[in-house]
Amino acid sequence: MPPLSDKFGRPITDLRISITDHCNYKCVYCRTGNEGALYGDLPFADYLRMVRVLVGMGIQKVRITGGEPLLRKGVVEFIRELAQLRDLEGEALDLALTTNGHLLPEMAVPLKQAGLRRVTVSMDAVDPDRFARITRVASGFDNVLAGIRAARRAGLWPLKVNCVLMRGFNEDQIIPFGMFAREEGVVVRFIEFMPLEEDRLWSPQTVVTLDEIVKRMAEYRPLVEIPRERSETARRFRFDDGVGEIGIIAPVSHPFCGHCSRIRITSDGKIRTCLFSVWDHDLHGRMRNGASDAELEDYIHGVVQKKEERHHIGEPDFVPASRTMVHIGG
Ligand code: SAM
Repeated sequence: MPPLSDKFGRPITDLRISITDHCNYKCVYCRTGNEGALYGDLPFADYLRMVRVLVGMGIQKVRITGGEPLLRKGVVEFIRELAQLRDLEGEALDLALTTNGHLLPEMAVPLKQAGLRRVTVSMDAVDPDRFARITRVASGFDNVLAGIRAARRAGLWPLKVNCVLMRGFNEDQIIPFGMFAREEGVVVRFIEFMPLEEDRLWSPQTVVTLDEIVKRMAEYRPLVEIPRERSETARRFRFDDGVGEIGIIAPVSHPFCGHCSRIRITSDGKIRTCLFSVWDHDLHGRMRNGASDAELEDYIHGVVQKKEERHHIGEPDFVPASRTMVHIGG
C-alpha cells in the first residue's frame, strides 16, 4: 500500500496521540474550573500497537499529548518503546511531547534517556500572578520555569514554549515573551485561541491575531519572517538582530488546512481527522473486537479519506467540534 494520504492528496505523516485526558491544570482557554468529565485512557500496549500500525502506513512524526501526558505512570517506558520503531524509510521517529511542564524538573532527564527528542511546554504568561489566573493553579509557575530549564539542560532541543493568547487575559504578555525567548534561548510560539474550550468563551473578538502580534512585537523589536517547511503549523520569525526566534500559529486568521499532515488519536482510542471534526472513529473498538493489523490498516485508510478539507471557524455554518481540546489532545 502507498504511504497514507487523504482524498485531497495531503500526505499524512504526523500523528498526535493523547495518553490521558486528565490534567492537573485548568487553563481558562481549555477546561472548566471544575474536574469535568473524563473519557478515560487505555493500556500503553494498545497505544503502542496503534502507533506501530500507523508508522507502517507512513507516519514519521509522533507527538504525545493529553490531558497532561506526564501524569501517566509508565510514560517513560512507553517512550522507550516508541523510540525503537522505524518509519518506512528505516529512520527513527521524530518523537516529541507536549506538556504543561509541571513535572518536567524531575522527568526531563529520564524522558531524554528514553529517546524523546523534543518537548513543547505550554506557558501562557511570564508573570506568575497572571500565570495563576490563567491556569487556575496557585503554585505552578516556578515548576514550569524550572521544567523549561531542566528540559534545555537535558538536551530536549529545540525547545518550544506555547502561549495561547486570549484577549482580556494575556495579550499584554507579547513583548515580555519576546524578551523571554531571547533570554532563555527558547522558541516562543503564540497560538491564536480556537473555539475548543469547555467554557464556550470564544468569540472572534477574543482572538489576538497574527497581524496584531507582529505589530505589537515590533514596538519592542522588528521581526523578520524566516522560511518554514510546508506542513509546519507555525509562521517563523526572528528578531532583526538575529537573537531569538518566535513562531505564530494562526489557525483562525491564516488557516493552514491545505497543508495539514495530521491525524489524532484520543486517549480512549478514537481517530480524529481534524481538531474540528464533529465525529470520531473507533479504532480501539476494532482492536477490542479482534481486528488483525491488516484490518486496522484498511479501516485507517478509509477513515483518512474522510479527512475534512478545512475548518469553518468564524463562518456562519461553523459547527463546534464534538470534543473539547482536553479530550482530543492538542
Ligand atoms: N497538558 C499539555 C499542555 O499543557 O501542553 C498538553 C495538552 S494541551 C490540550 C495542548 C496544547 O493545546 C497546549 O499548548 C494548549 O495551550 C493548547 N490549547 C488548549 N486549548 C486551546 C484552545 N482553545 N485554543 C488554542 N490552543 C489551545
